[in-house]
Amino acid sequence: DPRPLQFGFDNTYARLPERFYARLSLRPVLAPRLVKVNVELARALGVDPEALVTPEGVAVLAGNRVAPGSEPLALAYAGHQFGQFVPTLGDGRANLLGEVVCQDGARYDIQLKGSGPTPFSRRGDGRAALGPVLREYVVSEAMHALGVPTTRALAAVTTGEKVYRETVLPGAVIARVAASHLRVGTFQYFAARGDVDGARTLAEFAIARHYGDAAQATHRLRALLDGVIARHARLVAQWMLLGFIHGVMNTDNTSISGETLDFGPCAFLEAFEPAKVFSSIDRQGRYAYRNQPFAANWNLTRLAESLLPAMVLDEGGEEAALASANEAVAAFEPQFQAARLAGLRRKLGLTTEREGDDVLAEDLLDRMAANRADFTLTFRRLCDAAANPAGDAAVRELFADPTAYDAWAMNWRRRIALEAVSDAARATAMRLVNPHFIPRNHLVEEMIEAAVERQDYQPFEALLDATSRPYEDRPGLERYATPAKPEECVRATFC
Ligand code: AMP
Ligand code: MG
Ligand code: MG
Repeated sequence: DPRPLQFGFDNTYARLPERFYARLSLRPVLAPRLVKVNVELARALGVDPEALVTPEGVAVLAGNRVAPGSEPLALAYAGHQFGQFVPTLGDGRANLLGEVVCQDGARYDIQLKGSGPTPFSRRGDGRAALGPVLREYVVSEAMHALGVPTTRALAAVTTGEKVYRETVLPGAVIARVAASHLRVGTFQYFAARGDVDGARTLAEFAIARHYGDAAQATHRLRALLDGVIARHARLVAQWMLLGFIHGVMNTDNTSISGETLDFGPCAFLEAFEPAKVFSSIDRQGRYAYRNQPFAANWNLTRLAESLLPAMVLDEGGEEAALASANEAVAAFEPQFQAARLAGLRRKLGLTTEREGDDVLAEDLLDRMAANRADFTLTFRRLCDAAANPAGDAAVRELFADPTAYDAWAMNWRRRIALEAVSDAARATAMRLVNPHFIPRNHLVEEMIEAAVERQDYQPFEALLDATSRPYEDRPGLERYATPAKPEECVRATFC
């Protein structure tokens, strides 16, 4: 018999002042059924995966039963949504079950999304549809496997209830795991209320949880701000280097821990189009691929503003605080550019830094854009071309005009010849940063359709498997590395 379900919750958010959250009571769903448990992640969190798949475990994962030690909360936060400030958003369909501490001492939130209405639901139903739950499951796990800081998926269940969107859809709940659910919008919540004590309390909580070094600093809030900015500069650089488009970079989806948070209408680029937008709700293209660094910078500026009143004490006056906040925000752009350039060098197999590397990389990207080359495959096949020039044929055929690649490849070969690295070693290093498998949009749509229309989860399992080892060449999985045919192309994503 499996042991009883034990999370070993140690809840610190529930010890914060009452105005930080709303306590939740049970809102049971009709007929919960397990779709998936992330066995490896459960073990890492110290949760017995065998206990999660029992009827008791499934009831907990659906929000139908309170696990021992759980103190269910909906967190209060505000946020700028597509540039419009909303002073009260909060968890309208999420339920923080509690916090667990892993063996390595790292603390994680376990949160249900789609488990029912909360005091922050406004006009929403508090529910989630199966399709977006499966998208979040696959894409967040893929991001983790790709090496990008991200929330993760612990489990998914269906509810046996219908949710009403443009159409009637099966309901589902995802259990997600995050370093925390603190957002830029959480700071904005207190700033909007002139609640400097609240902002200070929240900042100290964030420092203790995520930025231990800032606890040692003389200017603690400045150190916190610096830390968040540095993590987001690296995070967004990683997104750009993988062709990831978040889709809803609102301040309420901008995590303080520096993780990718909230997988709604996200998508990976196929053909390289810098202005690409997939999200059906992003009508102005605010969060287009190429705008992401600017959006992050804007969001972090909102964080600086929200911290400002509390920084006045730390910095010794209003003027000093303003100067300090501005200095912190100004560091985003150079840090982002440095992280991006370092990443581009790795993608091109360059192990040293030379003047002109940025020009070489931008030239390739320009040619890819002009020739609609598949973003992921171009870099992956470049690994083979680094191992052996015979590999050029497979890269050039990705370009509408293959000679556009030839001209660039000559410059690239001249550049790599300046380094004392064997072709084989270079190719191996490149294969660790240029993925073979990403969750391609048509495969994501296909797996959602199979699950929603036919209760067939085989495509979900298969896509999850391919993308959970993204840097390997595994035989038999070629369809997971193949761009959509024109008729399969996904033009918009929904949440
Ligand atoms: P999101 O766009 O998913 O980041 O959500 C933005 C805000 O809308 C958050 O406050 C969510 O809790 C809330 N929200 C999104 N979907 C729902 C829903 N179905 N029911 C209630 N609130 C929701
Ligand atoms: Mg409260
Ligand atoms: Mg959100």
